[in-house]
Amino acid sequence: MRPVSSWGRLSADPHEVIELTDRDRVAAEIGRHHPGIAHGLGKSYGDASLNPHGVLWHTTGLDRFMSFDAATGRLVCEPGVVLRDIQRALIPRGWGLPVVPGTQLVTVGGAIANDVHGKNHHLVGTFGDHVRRLKLVRTDGETIDCGPDLRRDWFAATVAGLGLTGLIVEAELQLRPSNGPWVDGEIVPFSGLDDFFRLSDESEASWEHTVSWIDCTSGRNVRGLFMRARPTEAKGQAWRERRKRMPLTPPLSLVNKLSLRPFNMLYYELNRRRTGVRTVHAEPFLFPLDSLQEWNRMYGPRGFFQYQSVVPREAALGATRDMLDAIAASGEGSFLAVLKTFGDCKPAGLLSFPRPGVTLALDFRNVPAIPALFGRLDAIVRAAGGRLYPAKDARMPREMFEATYPNLPAFQAFRDPGISSALSRRLMGS
Ligand SMILES: Cc1cc2nc3c(=O)[nH]c(=O)nc-3n(C[C@H](O)[C@H](O)[C@H](O)COP(=O)(O)OP(=O)(O)OC[C@H]3O[C@@H](n4cnc5c(N)ncnc54)[C@H](O)[C@@H]3O)c2cc1C
Repeated sequence: MRPVSSWGRLSADPHEVIELTDRDRVAAEIGRHHPGIAHGLGKSYGDASLNPHGVLWHTTGLDRFMSFDAATGRLVCEPGVVLRDIQRALIPRGWGLPVVPGTQLVTVGGAIANDVHGKNHHLVGTFGDHVRRLKLVRTDGETIDCGPDLRRDWFAATVAGLGLTGLIVEAELQLRPSNGPWVDGEIVPFSGLDDFFRLSDESEASWEHTVSWIDCTSGRNVRGLFMRARPTEAKGQAWRERRKRMPLTPPLSLVNKLSLRPFNMLYYELNRRRTGVRTVHAEPFLFPLDSLQEWNRMYGPRGFFQYQSVVPREAALGATRDMLDAIAASGEGSFLAVLKTFGDCKPAGLLSFPRPGVTLALDFRNVPAIPALFGRLDAIVRAAGGRLYPAKDARMPREMFEATYPNLPAFQAFRDPGISSALSRRLMGS
């Protein structure tokens, strides 16, 4: 038994960790040690990949590239392969992943099981839209091959299936042509949500990646930085990766009522002046958080929550304003506050989170005021016809999950009875 935490560091309960390293032995291992849950790099914020006092199947040892066809861009790999390793190995060969979330440090299995989205959702959909085939192993030893054209029902249950339908041991991904790791990037300051929507509307056709940071201490007349980028061909530029690590866990959260306003002001002022289109390496521009390893420790020993919602476009202006008002009234705030529009793509999974509309993601330190604040935010999201992202969640009420994921009853038929997580018990009762 050893303590395992997820990215939010809200708990560190003991788990019986089974290291999976041999694809051919997975059926025997999970058949012998269950109920359990798969755990990739643990980048889900809440309890999706936790099973306190129970079994955890650790997949990062299943990290082999199995085949790659340089003519078609088809990659077959094991589930513990990390997205950044795919990018770094194959972009120089002219192919890259169509969808990468806000951190590249997640596994293929985790990206499928949460059907993750990137800053280009409006153009390319989710990770699951680019998976061609999966091999799933169940705790009773059954192996299921599925894909968009093969046992589609199993595929739709497993993409965004939160690891609950079986253990993915193999995935075939369709990569897309890449000109290299460079992007033309631009940061545009904005003031007010109307301005954000105007920038989104005018950018989405010609900019592949769009996302906004907002200063939630500025209230409903929110100011922010709209970031947009598109791939470009650039040669001969040097880029040196600088990787730093958060050296320790401070005794108290560094993000607090005293620090938040100056933090946000500094960040806004520093970036507001960096106007104009610049050719930059995609990694620091699109994944800035990856340059400080273990930054989650800055929230101190009590950890932190992320609250990520999506609401339909027509309700987004009002709902976002109401959420920002509720946050301001609570006296709490978020340094990492991200606003982005989702496109109209129909998601691949029964439980996929994205839907057409606007998503707002906010990090909050873990303090006693949070349950009441999240209760108010839940009410706003539900009234607007929205929902929350399970990959980021650690506390959504079960009744809200049931009401906002209408495909849940259909999904339940595909669950593996030998698989259970803290999240599945909290939101599905088992
Ligand atoms: C800084 C940061 C930024 C992020 N930005 C985004 C973003 O922009 N968009 C987005 O969508 N998400 C984002 N995320 C969330 C992250 O992409 C997801 O939580 C992702 O699933 C984490 O992958 P992981 O390998 O760490 O999986 P884990 O967190 O370990 O597990 C996630 C789920 O996958 C299941 N799983 C893992 N491996 C397998 C397998 N082999 N078979 C079956 N199930 C499996 C687990 O059981 C669990 O349910 C972000 C997270 C962080 C920390």
